[in-house]
Amino acid sequence: MDFTKDHIDIRDAISKLCTQFDGGYWQRCDRENKYPAEFVTALTKEGYLSALIPSKYGGSGLPLSAGAAILEEIHKSGGNAGACHAQMYTMGTILRHGSEEQKSKYLPKISSGELRLQAFGVTEPSSGSDTTSLNTTAKFDGENYIINGQKVWTSRAEHSDLLLLLARTTPIEEVQRRTEGLSVFLVDIRKLIGKSLTIKPIRTMMNHSTTELFFENMPVAPENMIGEIDSGFRYILSGMNAERILVAAECIGDAKWFIEKARNYATERVVFNRPIGQNQGIQFPIARAYSKMRAAELMLRWAAGLFDQGQNPGEEANLAKLLCSEASWKAAETCMQTFGGFGFAEEYDVERKYREAQLYQVAPISTNLILSYLSEHVLDLPRSY
Ligand SMILES: Cc1cc2nc3c(=O)[nH]c(=O)nc-3n(C[C@H](O)[C@H](O)[C@H](O)COP(=O)(O)OP(=O)(O)OC[C@H]3O[C@@H](n4cnc5c(N)ncnc54)[C@H](O)[C@@H]3O)c2cc1C
Repeated sequence: MDFTKDHIDIRDAISKLCTQFDGGYWQRCDRENKYPAEFVTALTKEGYLSALIPSKYGGSGLPLSAGAAILEEIHKSGGNAGACHAQMYTMGTILRHGSEEQKSKYLPKISSGELRLQAFGVTEPSSGSDTTSLNTTAKFDGENYIINGQKVWTSRAEHSDLLLLLARTTPIEEVQRRTEGLSVFLVDIRKLIGKSLTIKPIRTMMNHSTTELFFENMPVAPENMIGEIDSGFRYILSGMNAERILVAAECIGDAKWFIEKARNYATERVVFNRPIGQNQGIQFPIARAYSKMRAAELMLRWAAGLFDQGQNPGEEANLAKLLCSEASWKAAETCMQTFGGFGFAEEYDVERKYREAQLYQVAPISTNLILSYLSEHVLDLPRSY
């Protein structure tokens, strides 16, 4: 596998685009809890958010590794792709499992930016990581599916036109396996908000535009169901390896940002008449964070390469997410420690990036659940839940 041709042109272009959105921009968004609309618009205009959509539907038809390069560079520049990354992986559900009619109707408009597919509603307050026990129902009334229930942590719902929604179409008692009886809907939420759909923002420790959704008899036309009824869990699962690889790339971008920031500060900051980076107590943690980042980066490139070859590499995607999120967290802690008191000051961006990097230990899948996957599916240990 040749890692040297890793989308250098795309990386350079993203890096240049990100210079328009400096630390001050991200600090303002963070302080005001504001969606980085200008940044998302710039990415959309340049076609980066439709990089993975086939050219037949107006996208660039690039492989997953190109999407990973885009997200990595955004994070390496000090920005955050959380405002828009979902579009890259949620559209995969439509692409792989949608009808030709659905693809032709939605994908070109998503490519052009006319429609935003940023919201992905799976998690519920009572089910959490145990997705198949979710309680949101979709019942057919002869004309529409009527959705009732609640989602939590549905990020970017206020900044999206479309929502990819997982709901139960057959009661859990009536299916042989818990994974059956769930269906995926592509919901155009624009006309439903304030009527049968209520969106409530959740304030979080970082700026992530996440929300709670409440559905009260929300009608969704049958033609908005993706694929076959009751098979939705499989469709959502099939997109998870891509999601994990893309998120791992964001983590590697973060790790690189923290390491560079720490290295520069350690070189410039003079205490006791010498740069703090001259002390091995400061340089060794940075060197260790670097080594962890490089090792994790190899797994990321390996997983993305396998995906690009047409495989769906569960083990490697999970390993990449685990190792890259741990590498970014290690680098985040090292950077904070290197900055000492100044790490806490908003103007250096370290505390913001530190808060943002913590998320990847929990979402889109928590570290424990990845370890559980590796234990059961790779090491063949007994299933724990
Ligand atoms: C900012 C943010 C944005 C998000 N955006 C979205 C989104 O857009 N769409 C969406 O659908 N979801 C989203 N999520 C939800 C996210 O995917 C979940 O938070 C995550 O999957 C964990 O679920 P939970 O929070 O319910 O934790 P829980 O399932 O309640 O778990 C709590 C803790 O217990 C551990 N745990 C649970 N069961 C086990 C077990 N069997 N073995 C070992 N440990 C276990 C978990 O690892 C975790 O550490 C978001 C979350 C956050 C915080």
